[in-house]
Amino acid sequence: MTILTTTNHSRDIAGLKYLYPVLSRRAGGLSIGINFNTNNACNWRCVYCQVPDLKIGTAPDLDFQLLEEELRFFLDDVLNGDFYQRFHVDDDKRVIKDIAISGNGEPTSLKDFDRAIALIGKVATEAGVLPQSHFVLITNGSLLHRPAVQNGLKILNEYGGEVWFKLDSATEEGRSLMNNAGQSLQASVDNLLLSAKLCPTKLQTCLLDFDKQGLSSKEKDALLELLKSIKTKGYALKHVMLYTIARQSLQPESGRLERLSMETLNAFAEEIRLLGFEVSVCV
Ligand code: SF4
Repeated sequence: MTILTTTNHSRDIAGLKYLYPVLSRRAGGLSIGINFNTNNACNWRCVYCQVPDLKIGTAPDLDFQLLEEELRFFLDDVLNGDFYQRFHVDDDKRVIKDIAISGNGEPTSLKDFDRAIALIGKVATEAGVLPQSHFVLITNGSLLHRPAVQNGLKILNEYGGEVWFKLDSATEEGRSLMNNAGQSLQASVDNLLLSAKLCPTKLQTCLLDFDKQGLSSKEKDALLELLKSIKTKGYALKHVMLYTIARQSLQPESGRLERLSMETLNAFAEEIRLLGFEVSVCV
């Protein structure tokens, strides 16, 4: 017997290739994760990444028919079958909070990304899950310049979805330390603003203590400056999500990383709120 708990995030718990259910304490219900990166490949290598055997690369070609079958089967099992009983889910958690495209790698690296978003939106709408549940794309935003990604965001918007866009640092040094990303800060900011134009977008920022440096004033000031300029220019970005590491990184830097305290996160959140943003702090 398997009990689906908030600490059990195994991606193969339901025995499916592309779908993995997570009982989310944060969301207060079931989150249906969709993983396009079944090869554990990403174009970044964040120091806090929890993907096992992470490789540099892109998502493999998607089996659209299998994704559709898995989604229809799984939604039917949850809505009409005994999924919640089998996994001993508490009564108050028996609700689909979101469908989250968040894989073992960067989901927008999928070829035909827009077609996949359209398929998921259609099936989830037909099952009656959308628009009630959230439809979220979690991305590092690095491939927004691709037409298929932009089109995917437009389709996500049509289904009432939103983008959680990763930007962990507003300095070049911080980005190279945290994300090992080849992309410049300016390119990432351009993509962020483009994302906010195409679909409601929240900024998602992971803050952590690297080599006992805490959260430096340089990093804080750079992010505040960036957010101030975004606000001044009237871009559609309204929400910032701050979080710190909750689980052990599977990267070589793991031993050098520690979580930041709630006090540190809350104090920084307050500074960002003063700029006029909504800020949530997740741990
Ligand atoms: S972008 Fe996500 S999947 Fe890719 S390395 Fe960073 S944390 Fe891991």
